[in-house]
Amino acid sequence: MKALILVCDCAGAAALVWLLNTVALIQFRRAKGAHWTERARALYPARVVATLSIWILPVDLALAQQLASPGLAPHWVLAGLTAWVGAVAGTYPFDREVLPWLAPRAWLRNVLTSWLIRFALWFVLVGVIVLMPAELDWRGGLLAALFVGLFVAWCWGGFLWVGRQLGLLRAAPERLRRIVADVAGRMGIPVRGVWLLEYPRSFAFALPYTGDLAFSGRLLERLPDDEVAAICAHELGHLAESKLIVGTRVFADLAWLVPWLFLKPASHAFDAVGIGAIALGSLFTLFGARWFSRHLERRADRAAHTSGGEAGTYARALARLYEDNLIPAVLPSRGRTHPDLYDRLLAVGVQPDFPRPTAPSSNTVHGVLLCVLLGILAVLTLNRLYP
Ligand SMILES: [Zn+2]
Repeated sequence: MKALILVCDCAGAAALVWLLNTVALIQFRRAKGAHWTERARALYPARVVATLSIWILPVDLALAQQLASPGLAPHWVLAGLTAWVGAVAGTYPFDREVLPWLAPRAWLRNVLTSWLIRFALWFVLVGVIVLMPAELDWRGGLLAALFVGLFVAWCWGGFLWVGRQLGLLRAAPERLRRIVADVAGRMGIPVRGVWLLEYPRSFAFALPYTGDLAFSGRLLERLPDDEVAAICAHELGHLAESKLIVGTRVFADLAWLVPWLFLKPASHAFDAVGIGAIALGSLFTLFGARWFSRHLERRADRAAHTSGGEAGTYARALARLYEDNLIPAVLPSRGRTHPDLYDRLLAVGVQPDFPRPTAPSSNTVHGVLLCVLLGILAVLTLNRLYP
């Protein structure tokens, strides 16, 4: 009976996610034929709810069946996990509609590798939180040091190693290596390695810790050589960051993660005040880290703008990336790692050929409903556990 319920959880979550995403995409479909900035605006709330439902819907389902029939329902963790698998599978039609070039095998590969990397990181974080003693002693210090050590190892080579083992990063093709060598030579910035990234969107990133660059195959397909060179100049701007800046990047990331490691001792010593202090401190440092990141992005944009390529090439490349990925030219909140495209174009002296769009909304009716339902179910569950 329990196995049958689990199968229903998986299939039910997949069907519900598909239904929610189909409704959320109505605005996006209506915007077909409109300017890309309008289509990106229409897509944004659907994207938010698609991400949200992968997380909230399985919890809603697991809690609801536990409340409805505690004797009959499978363990809530098992039910949540099965529903989560269904929810992830249910996003396939959504991804296919937004990225029509994405083949089923590439989709599956992308889903598996990206979740594997994320889970590996959370597994360590949650593991340390669980193992942390309630009263701080040398074991607590050792666990925190272990977490910091692993994080540093992840930045300095660990991510590259895992990416290569998973087939996410492969040797760069000749065209890319030639472009990178040209721009790096012109800017006088050494590059340690160039990688081809297996990723369905137009995307490039730098690893300032190791001096490596990665470009997605989609970016190389979509952009002509001069625009790839302009994006490369931006990424080289990150590789030129000083040791102090690279150290601050790592410190800023650790500063909002590490407080959570002490969740158990803090709640043991100070109850809810301890948990609140950790949440507040973490949020504060996260916003600080994001502000620092935006500052570095502007710097890298300036490096790309003045790297010696033809004027306007970088702006064109940047706009093409946002258009291909359908990222709104202006986004809602301020706590982001990158400035808005509209401001980035103005900052490199290019007046966009479209008026400044208003930021899209992050909320949808069904997204709010999912969250409200979660709140109600959580209160009912707590009420049952602690009558
Ligand atoms: Zn950047």
